[in-house]
Amino acid sequence: MGQRSILRRQTRQVDVGGVKLGGDAPIVVQSMTNTDTADAAATAAQVLALARAGSELVRLTVDTMAAAAQVARIRDLLARQGCHVPLIGDFHFNGHKLLAAHPECAEALAKYRINPGNVGKGSKRDTQFAEMIEFACANDKPVRIGVNWGSLDQDLLARMMDDNAGLDDPRPAPAVMRSALIESAVASAQRAEELGQPRNRIVISCKVSDVQDLIAAYRDLSRRCDYPLHLGLTEAGMGSKGIVASTAAMAVLLQEGIGDTIRISLTPEPGGDRTREVIVAQELLQTMGFRSFAPLVTACPGCGRTTSTTFQALAASIQTYLREQMPVWKARYPGVEAMAVAVMGCVVNGPGESKMANIGISLPGTGETPVAPVYEDGAKTVTLKGERIAEEFQQLVEAYVRRTYRPGAEPAGGEPDAGAAGARARSVIPLKVAG
Ligand code: SF4
Repeated sequence: MGQRSILRRQTRQVDVGGVKLGGDAPIVVQSMTNTDTADAAATAAQVLALARAGSELVRLTVDTMAAAAQVARIRDLLARQGCHVPLIGDFHFNGHKLLAAHPECAEALAKYRINPGNVGKGSKRDTQFAEMIEFACANDKPVRIGVNWGSLDQDLLARMMDDNAGLDDPRPAPAVMRSALIESAVASAQRAEELGQPRNRIVISCKVSDVQDLIAAYRDLSRRCDYPLHLGLTEAGMGSKGIVASTAAMAVLLQEGIGDTIRISLTPEPGGDRTREVIVAQELLQTMGFRSFAPLVTACPGCGRTTSTTFQALAASIQTYLREQMPVWKARYPGVEAMAVAVMGCVVNGPGESKMANIGISLPGTGETPVAPVYEDGAKTVTLKGERIAEEFQQLVEAYVRRTYRPGAEPAGGEPDAGAAGARARSVIPLKVAG
Protein backbone atom coordinates (compact mmCIF):
# COMPACT_ATOMS: atom_id res chain seq x y z
CA MET A 1 0.00 0.00 0.00
CA GLY A 2 1.65 3.22 -1.08
CA GLN A 3 1.59 6.52 0.73
CA ARG A 4 -1.59 8.37 -0.15
CA SER A 5 -2.86 11.83 0.50
CA ILE A 6 -6.44 12.99 0.41
CA LEU A 7 -7.17 16.64 -0.23
CA ARG A 8 -9.61 18.15 2.20
CA ARG A 9 -11.71 21.15 1.47
CA GLN A 10 -10.46 24.17 3.39
CA THR A 11 -12.97 25.24 6.03
CA ARG A 12 -12.94 27.78 8.82
CA GLN A 13 -12.30 26.05 12.13
CA VAL A 14 -15.00 26.07 14.80
CA ASP A 15 -14.39 25.20 18.45
CA VAL A 16 -17.22 23.23 20.04
CA GLY A 17 -16.49 22.98 23.74
CA GLY A 18 -12.84 22.23 23.05
CA VAL A 19 -13.44 19.90 20.08
CA LYS A 20 -12.27 21.45 16.82
CA LEU A 21 -14.35 21.10 13.66
CA GLY A 22 -12.92 21.98 10.26
CA GLY A 23 -9.63 23.57 9.28
CA ASP A 24 -6.87 21.05 9.81
CA ALA A 25 -8.74 19.17 12.55
CA PRO A 26 -9.46 15.47 12.07
CA ILE A 27 -12.99 14.51 11.02
CA VAL A 28 -15.04 14.38 14.22
CA VAL A 29 -17.47 11.59 15.17
CA GLN A 30 -20.72 12.61 16.76
CA SER A 31 -23.97 10.97 17.80
CA MET A 32 -27.36 11.74 19.28
CA THR A 33 -29.27 10.37 22.25
CA ASN A 34 -32.76 8.87 21.95
CA THR A 35 -33.71 9.15 25.60
CA ASP A 36 -36.20 11.67 26.96
CA THR A 37 -33.93 14.55 27.96
CA ALA A 38 -36.29 15.30 30.84
CA ASP A 39 -35.07 11.99 32.30
CA ALA A 40 -31.66 13.25 33.34
CA ALA A 41 -30.35 9.95 34.72
CA ALA A 42 -31.23 7.94 31.60
CA THR A 43 -29.89 10.64 29.28
CA ALA A 44 -26.64 11.03 31.20
CA ALA A 45 -26.19 7.24 31.13
CA GLN A 46 -26.65 7.15 27.37
CA VAL A 47 -24.37 10.13 26.77
CA LEU A 48 -21.75 8.39 28.87
CA ALA A 49 -22.10 5.18 26.85
CA LEU A 50 -21.85 7.12 23.57
CA ALA A 51 -18.82 9.07 24.78
CA ARG A 52 -17.12 5.91 26.04
CA ALA A 53 -17.76 4.30 22.65
CA GLY A 54 -15.86 7.23 21.11
CA SER A 55 -18.46 9.89 20.29
CA GLU A 56 -16.60 13.20 20.47
CA LEU A 57 -19.75 15.32 20.54
CA VAL A 58 -23.22 14.23 21.68
CA ARG A 59 -26.49 15.92 20.71
CA LEU A 60 -29.60 15.96 22.91
CA THR A 61 -33.16 16.80 22.04
CA VAL A 62 -34.21 19.98 23.85
CA ASP A 63 -37.89 20.22 23.03
CA THR A 64 -39.75 21.06 26.24
CA MET A 65 -39.31 23.14 29.38
CA ALA A 66 -38.87 19.88 31.31
CA ALA A 67 -36.05 18.83 28.98
CA ALA A 68 -34.34 22.23 29.08
CA ALA A 69 -34.58 22.19 32.88
CA GLN A 70 -32.50 18.99 33.04
CA VAL A 71 -29.64 19.86 30.66
CA ALA A 72 -27.40 21.44 33.30
CA ARG A 73 -28.08 18.51 35.63
CA ILE A 74 -27.11 16.08 32.87
CA ARG A 75 -23.89 18.04 32.44
CA ASP A 76 -23.24 17.73 36.21
CA LEU A 77 -24.03 14.02 36.30
CA LEU A 78 -21.55 13.46 33.48
CA ALA A 79 -18.86 15.57 35.13
CA ARG A 80 -19.17 13.44 38.26
CA GLN A 81 -18.32 10.43 36.09
CA GLY A 82 -15.35 12.25 34.62
CA CYS A 83 -17.11 12.71 31.27
CA HIS A 84 -16.73 16.13 29.66
CA VAL A 85 -17.95 15.38 26.15
CA PRO A 86 -19.46 18.57 24.67
CA LEU A 87 -23.27 18.50 24.55
CA ILE A 88 -25.21 19.97 21.66
CA GLY A 89 -28.83 21.09 22.07
CA ASP A 90 -31.16 20.16 19.24
CA PHE A 91 -33.83 22.87 19.04
CA HIS A 92 -36.89 23.33 16.88
CA PHE A 93 -39.99 25.61 17.04
CA ASN A 94 -39.60 26.79 20.68
CA GLY A 95 -35.82 26.98 21.22
CA HIS A 96 -35.92 30.74 21.82
CA LYS A 97 -38.40 30.27 24.69
CA LEU A 98 -36.49 27.37 26.23
CA LEU A 99 -33.19 29.22 26.21
CA ALA A 100 -34.83 32.33 27.68
CA ALA A 101 -36.43 30.34 30.47
CA HIS A 102 -33.34 28.24 31.23
CA PRO A 103 -30.15 30.26 31.02
CA GLU A 104 -28.31 27.43 32.78
CA CYS A 105 -29.24 25.20 29.84
CA ALA A 106 -27.92 27.80 27.40
CA GLU A 107 -24.67 27.82 29.36
CA ALA A 108 -24.31 24.04 29.77
CA LEU A 109 -24.61 23.34 26.04
CA ALA A 110 -21.54 23.63 23.84
CA LYS A 111 -23.47 24.30 20.62
CA TYR A 112 -27.02 24.97 19.51
CA ARG A 113 -28.50 23.22 16.51
CA ILE A 114 -31.02 25.46 14.77
CA ASN A 115 -33.23 24.28 11.91
CA PRO A 116 -34.26 27.33 9.86
CA GLY A 117 -37.24 25.38 8.49
CA ASN A 118 -38.60 24.69 11.98
CA VAL A 119 -37.65 27.79 13.90
CA GLY A 120 -41.05 29.41 13.52
CA LYS A 121 -43.75 30.11 10.99
CA GLY A 122 -44.48 33.14 8.82
CA SER A 123 -43.52 36.48 10.30
CA LYS A 124 -42.25 34.82 13.51
CA ARG A 125 -39.54 32.88 11.70
CA ASP A 126 -37.10 35.76 11.40
CA THR A 127 -37.56 37.06 14.92
CA GLN A 128 -37.31 33.64 16.52
CA PHE A 129 -34.23 32.79 14.48
CA ALA A 130 -32.72 36.11 15.54
CA GLU A 131 -33.47 35.34 19.20
CA MET A 132 -31.70 32.00 18.95
CA ILE A 133 -28.65 33.69 17.45
CA GLU A 134 -28.72 36.33 20.19
CA PHE A 135 -28.54 33.56 22.79
CA ALA A 136 -25.59 32.03 20.94
CA CYS A 137 -23.81 35.41 20.82
CA ALA A 138 -24.55 36.16 24.47
CA ASN A 139 -23.22 32.78 25.59
CA ASP A 140 -20.29 32.63 23.13
CA LYS A 141 -21.64 29.39 21.64
CA PRO A 142 -21.32 28.09 18.11
CA VAL A 143 -24.42 27.06 16.18
CA ARG A 144 -25.18 24.49 13.55
CA ILE A 145 -27.56 25.71 10.92
CA GLY A 146 -29.08 22.31 10.24
CA VAL A 147 -31.40 22.19 7.26
CA ASN A 148 -33.35 19.04 6.63
CA TRP A 149 -35.21 17.91 3.52
CA GLY A 150 -38.21 16.92 5.61
CA SER A 151 -38.58 20.36 7.17
CA LEU A 152 -37.41 22.60 4.35
CA ASP A 153 -38.66 26.18 4.49
CA GLN A 154 -41.78 25.84 2.32
CA ASP A 155 -42.09 29.58 1.57
CA LEU A 156 -38.55 29.64 0.20
CA LEU A 157 -39.15 26.48 -1.82
CA ALA A 158 -42.39 27.87 -3.28
CA ARG A 159 -40.63 31.10 -4.27
CA MET A 160 -37.77 29.27 -5.94
CA MET A 161 -40.16 26.92 -7.75
CA ASP A 162 -42.12 29.93 -9.07
CA ASP A 163 -38.94 31.66 -10.21
CA ASN A 164 -37.81 28.47 -11.90
CA ALA A 165 -41.14 28.03 -13.68
CA GLY A 166 -40.69 31.49 -15.19
CA LEU A 167 -37.39 30.60 -16.81
CA ASP A 168 -37.11 29.86 -20.53
CA ASP A 169 -35.41 26.60 -19.67
CA PRO A 170 -36.66 25.54 -16.23
CA ARG A 171 -34.47 23.20 -14.16
CA PRO A 172 -35.84 19.85 -12.99
CA ALA A 173 -37.79 20.05 -9.73
CA PRO A 174 -35.27 17.97 -7.68
CA ALA A 175 -32.49 20.36 -8.67
CA VAL A 176 -34.58 23.32 -7.53
CA MET A 177 -35.38 21.58 -4.24
CA ARG A 178 -31.69 20.96 -3.70
CA SER A 179 -30.92 24.60 -4.41
CA ALA A 180 -33.62 25.61 -1.93
CA LEU A 181 -32.06 23.42 0.72
CA ILE A 182 -28.64 24.97 0.21
CA GLU A 183 -30.03 28.47 -0.09
CA SER A 184 -31.86 28.04 3.22
CA ALA A 185 -28.64 26.94 4.96
CA VAL A 186 -26.28 29.50 3.44
CA ALA A 187 -28.70 32.44 3.69
CA SER A 188 -29.45 31.54 7.33
CA ALA A 189 -25.73 31.37 8.12
CA GLN A 190 -25.20 34.76 6.50
CA ARG A 191 -28.14 36.15 8.44
CA ALA A 192 -26.60 34.78 11.64
CA GLU A 193 -23.39 36.63 10.81
CA GLU A 194 -25.33 39.85 10.20
CA LEU A 195 -26.89 39.37 13.63
CA GLY A 196 -23.43 39.21 15.19
CA GLN A 197 -22.59 35.51 15.28
CA PRO A 198 -18.89 35.25 14.38
CA ARG A 199 -18.15 33.38 11.19
CA ASN A 200 -15.94 30.93 13.07
CA ARG A 201 -18.87 29.84 15.21
CA ILE A 202 -21.09 28.53 12.44
CA VAL A 203 -21.37 24.95 11.16
CA ILE A 204 -23.77 23.90 8.41
CA SER A 205 -25.61 20.74 7.42
CA CYS A 206 -28.08 19.95 4.64
CA LYS A 207 -29.41 16.49 5.36
CA VAL A 208 -31.51 14.45 2.97
CA SER A 209 -32.47 10.78 2.98
CA ASP A 210 -31.44 9.83 -0.57
CA VAL A 211 -27.82 8.89 -1.28
CA GLN A 212 -27.48 10.62 -4.66
CA ASP A 213 -29.27 13.74 -3.43
CA LEU A 214 -26.96 13.96 -0.42
CA ILE A 215 -23.86 13.70 -2.58
CA ALA A 216 -25.14 16.32 -5.01
CA ALA A 217 -26.29 18.66 -2.22
CA TYR A 218 -22.99 18.61 -0.33
CA ARG A 219 -20.95 19.03 -3.49
CA ASP A 220 -22.96 22.18 -4.25
CA LEU A 221 -22.84 23.32 -0.64
CA SER A 222 -19.07 22.94 -0.41
CA ARG A 223 -18.70 25.21 -3.44
CA ARG A 224 -20.91 27.86 -1.86
CA CYS A 225 -19.25 28.40 1.52
CA ASP A 226 -16.32 27.66 3.81
CA TYR A 227 -18.28 26.87 6.97
CA PRO A 228 -17.40 23.44 8.40
CA LEU A 229 -19.87 20.83 7.16
CA HIS A 230 -21.66 18.28 9.28
CA LEU A 231 -22.34 15.20 7.14
CA GLY A 232 -25.19 12.83 7.69
CA LEU A 233 -27.77 10.92 5.71
CA THR A 234 -30.98 11.57 7.58
CA GLU A 235 -33.47 8.76 8.17
CA ALA A 236 -30.87 6.28 6.93
CA GLY A 237 -32.88 3.37 8.30
CA MET A 238 -32.23 0.20 10.22
CA GLY A 239 -29.45 -2.34 10.26
CA SER A 240 -27.43 -3.04 7.16
CA LYS A 241 -29.57 -0.76 4.97
CA GLY A 242 -28.85 2.24 7.19
CA ILE A 243 -25.15 1.44 7.36
CA VAL A 244 -24.79 0.85 3.63
CA ALA A 245 -26.75 3.95 2.62
CA SER A 246 -24.86 6.20 5.04
CA THR A 247 -21.52 4.78 4.04
CA ALA A 248 -22.25 4.94 0.32
CA ALA A 249 -23.09 8.63 0.53
CA MET A 250 -20.50 9.75 3.01
CA ALA A 251 -17.60 7.77 1.58
CA VAL A 252 -17.94 9.56 -1.76
CA LEU A 253 -18.01 12.96 -0.08
CA LEU A 254 -15.20 12.23 2.36
CA GLN A 255 -13.06 10.98 -0.49
CA GLU A 256 -13.63 14.33 -2.19
CA GLY A 257 -12.48 16.12 0.97
CA ILE A 258 -16.00 17.21 1.94
CA GLY A 259 -17.14 16.85 5.55
CA ASP A 260 -15.69 17.93 8.89
CA THR A 261 -17.87 15.93 11.26
CA ILE A 262 -20.11 12.92 10.67
CA ARG A 263 -23.07 11.27 12.27
CA ILE A 264 -24.50 7.91 11.19
CA SER A 265 -28.26 8.16 11.79
CA LEU A 266 -29.13 4.52 12.40
CA THR A 267 -32.54 3.44 13.59
CA PRO A 268 -31.76 1.00 16.41
CA GLU A 269 -33.56 -2.31 16.70
CA PRO A 270 -36.04 -2.20 19.61
CA GLY A 271 -33.84 -2.37 22.69
CA GLY A 272 -30.76 -2.13 20.46
CA ASP A 273 -27.52 -0.48 21.41
CA ARG A 274 -27.33 3.21 20.53
CA THR A 275 -23.54 3.12 20.49
CA ARG A 276 -23.61 1.20 17.21
CA GLU A 277 -23.88 4.48 15.29
CA VAL A 278 -20.60 5.59 16.87
CA ILE A 279 -18.80 2.37 16.00
CA VAL A 280 -20.02 2.49 12.41
CA ALA A 281 -18.85 6.11 12.06
CA GLN A 282 -15.44 5.21 13.46
CA GLU A 283 -15.14 2.19 11.20
CA LEU A 284 -16.05 4.28 8.17
CA LEU A 285 -13.29 6.78 8.96
CA GLN A 286 -10.81 4.09 9.89
CA THR A 287 -11.35 1.80 6.91
CA MET A 288 -10.97 4.84 4.63
CA GLY A 289 -7.68 5.69 6.30
CA PHE A 290 -8.71 9.04 7.81
CA ARG A 291 -8.34 8.20 11.49
CA SER A 292 -7.74 5.23 13.76
CA PHE A 293 -9.90 4.52 16.79
CA ALA A 294 -9.46 0.86 17.69
CA PRO A 295 -7.57 -2.08 16.20
CA LEU A 296 -9.54 -3.70 13.41
CA VAL A 297 -9.74 -7.40 12.69
CA THR A 298 -9.26 -8.60 9.12
CA ALA A 299 -11.21 -11.84 8.77
CA CYS A 300 -11.97 -13.91 5.70
CA PRO A 301 -15.62 -14.64 4.93
CA GLY A 302 -15.09 -18.40 5.23
CA CYS A 303 -16.03 -20.91 2.55
CA GLY A 304 -16.27 -24.65 1.98
CA ARG A 305 -12.63 -25.01 2.97
CA THR A 306 -13.44 -24.25 6.60
CA THR A 307 -16.79 -25.65 7.65
CA SER A 308 -16.23 -25.18 11.37
CA THR A 309 -17.29 -21.91 12.97
CA THR A 310 -14.18 -21.75 15.15
CA PHE A 311 -12.55 -18.98 13.15
CA GLN A 312 -15.78 -16.95 13.09
CA ALA A 313 -16.01 -17.20 16.87
CA LEU A 314 -12.36 -16.24 17.25
CA ALA A 315 -12.70 -13.25 14.89
CA ALA A 316 -15.73 -12.01 16.85
CA SER A 317 -14.21 -12.55 20.27
CA ILE A 318 -10.93 -10.87 19.32
CA GLN A 319 -12.74 -7.83 17.86
CA THR A 320 -14.82 -7.49 21.03
CA TYR A 321 -11.76 -7.98 23.21
CA LEU A 322 -9.82 -5.29 21.33
CA ARG A 323 -12.63 -2.75 21.66
CA GLU A 324 -13.07 -3.50 25.34
CA GLN A 325 -9.38 -2.92 25.99
CA MET A 326 -9.27 0.42 24.21
CA PRO A 327 -10.29 2.72 27.11
CA VAL A 328 -7.19 1.51 28.99
CA TRP A 329 -4.92 0.81 26.02
CA LYS A 330 -5.52 4.22 24.46
CA ALA A 331 -3.76 5.94 27.34
CA ARG A 332 -1.19 3.24 28.00
CA TYR A 333 -0.12 2.16 24.51
CA PRO A 334 0.03 5.07 22.05
CA GLY A 335 -0.58 4.01 18.44
CA VAL A 336 -2.33 0.76 19.33
CA GLU A 337 -5.53 2.04 17.70
CA ALA A 338 -3.93 1.54 14.26
CA MET A 339 -3.00 -2.10 14.90
CA ALA A 340 -4.30 -4.66 12.38
CA VAL A 341 -5.15 -8.20 13.49
CA ALA A 342 -5.95 -11.00 11.01
CA VAL A 343 -8.06 -14.06 11.78
CA MET A 344 -8.26 -16.36 8.76
CA GLY A 345 -10.13 -19.58 8.11
CA CYS A 346 -7.47 -21.68 6.34
CA VAL A 347 -4.01 -21.65 4.83
CA VAL A 348 -5.13 -20.60 1.32
CA ASN A 349 -5.04 -16.88 2.14
CA GLY A 350 -4.33 -17.10 5.86
CA PRO A 351 -0.56 -16.74 6.00
CA GLY A 352 -0.60 -13.98 3.36
CA GLU A 353 -3.15 -11.89 5.23
CA SER A 354 -1.45 -12.69 8.54
CA LYS A 355 1.80 -11.30 7.19
CA MET A 356 -0.05 -8.16 6.09
CA ALA A 357 -1.34 -7.58 9.63
CA ASN A 358 0.60 -6.65 12.75
CA ILE A 359 -0.40 -10.01 14.18
CA GLY A 360 -2.43 -12.73 12.49
CA ILE A 361 -3.50 -16.33 12.78
CA SER A 362 -4.66 -18.93 10.23
CA LEU A 363 -6.94 -21.54 11.69
CA PRO A 364 -6.91 -25.03 10.19
CA GLY A 365 -9.36 -25.56 7.34
CA THR A 366 -11.24 -28.79 6.72
CA GLY A 367 -8.81 -31.68 6.29
CA GLU A 368 -5.77 -29.55 7.21
CA THR A 369 -3.39 -30.45 10.03
CA PRO A 370 -5.06 -29.05 13.19
CA VAL A 371 -2.49 -26.34 13.81
CA ALA A 372 -2.71 -22.55 13.61
CA PRO A 373 0.40 -20.62 12.54
CA VAL A 374 0.76 -17.11 14.01
CA TYR A 375 2.62 -14.28 12.30
CA GLU A 376 3.87 -11.10 13.94
CA ASP A 377 5.21 -8.19 11.91
CA GLY A 378 5.37 -10.37 8.82
CA ALA A 379 7.25 -13.32 10.33
CA LYS A 380 5.96 -16.63 11.64
CA THR A 381 6.52 -16.79 15.40
CA VAL A 382 4.62 -19.76 16.76
CA THR A 383 2.17 -22.50 15.79
CA LEU A 384 -0.76 -23.01 18.14
CA LYS A 385 -2.61 -26.32 18.51
CA GLY A 386 -5.10 -28.00 20.79
CA GLU A 387 -8.26 -26.80 22.48
CA ARG A 388 -7.02 -23.43 23.77
CA ILE A 389 -6.04 -21.75 20.51
CA ALA A 390 -8.43 -18.81 21.08
CA GLU A 391 -7.16 -18.03 24.59
CA GLU A 392 -3.54 -18.45 23.59
CA PHE A 393 -3.94 -16.18 20.57
CA GLN A 394 -5.54 -13.51 22.75
CA GLN A 395 -2.56 -13.74 25.11
CA LEU A 396 -0.20 -13.34 22.15
CA VAL A 397 -2.12 -10.25 21.01
CA GLU A 398 -1.88 -8.77 24.49
CA ALA A 399 1.85 -9.48 24.71
CA TYR A 400 2.35 -7.98 21.23
CA VAL A 401 0.55 -4.79 22.33
CA ARG A 402 2.56 -4.48 25.54
CA ARG A 403 5.82 -4.99 23.69
CA THR A 404 5.13 -2.93 20.59
CA TYR A 405 3.16 0.07 21.80
CA ARG A 406 4.68 0.78 25.19
CA PRO A 407 5.96 4.37 25.29
CA GLY A 408 9.44 4.48 23.81
CA ALA A 409 9.07 1.25 21.79
CA GLU A 410 10.04 1.18 18.10
CA PRO A 411 6.93 2.05 16.07
CA ALA A 412 5.02 -1.02 14.85
CA GLY A 413 5.99 -1.86 11.30
CA GLY A 414 8.71 0.74 11.42
CA GLU A 415 11.32 -1.51 9.85
CA PRO A 416 11.46 -1.31 6.06
CA ASP A 417 10.60 -4.97 5.48
CA ALA A 418 8.33 -5.65 8.36
CA GLY A 419 5.77 -6.95 5.90
CA ALA A 420 2.43 -5.32 5.66
CA ALA A 421 2.34 -4.52 9.33
CA GLY A 422 4.35 -1.55 8.24
CA ALA A 423 2.09 -0.84 5.30
CA ARG A 424 -1.00 -1.03 7.49
CA ALA A 425 0.54 1.23 10.08
CA ARG A 426 1.23 3.77 7.37
CA SER A 427 -2.30 3.59 6.01
CA VAL A 428 -3.36 6.30 8.47
CA ILE A 429 -2.35 9.09 6.23
CA PRO A 430 -1.42 12.68 6.80
CA LEU A 431 -4.15 14.87 5.40
CA LYS A 432 -3.33 17.75 3.19
CA VAL A 433 -5.71 20.65 3.10
CA ALA A 434 -6.96 21.73 -0.28
CA GLY A 435 -6.76 25.37 -1.12
S1 SF4 B 1 -8.93 -18.06 3.73
FE1 SF4 B 1 -9.56 -20.19 3.38
S2 SF4 B 1 -11.49 -20.39 4.53
FE2 SF4 B 1 -11.12 -18.21 4.31
S3 SF4 B 1 -12.30 -17.68 2.48
FE3 SF4 B 1 -10.18 -18.06 1.84
S4 SF4 B 1 -10.15 -20.20 1.22
FE4 SF4 B 1 -12.01 -19.90 2.42
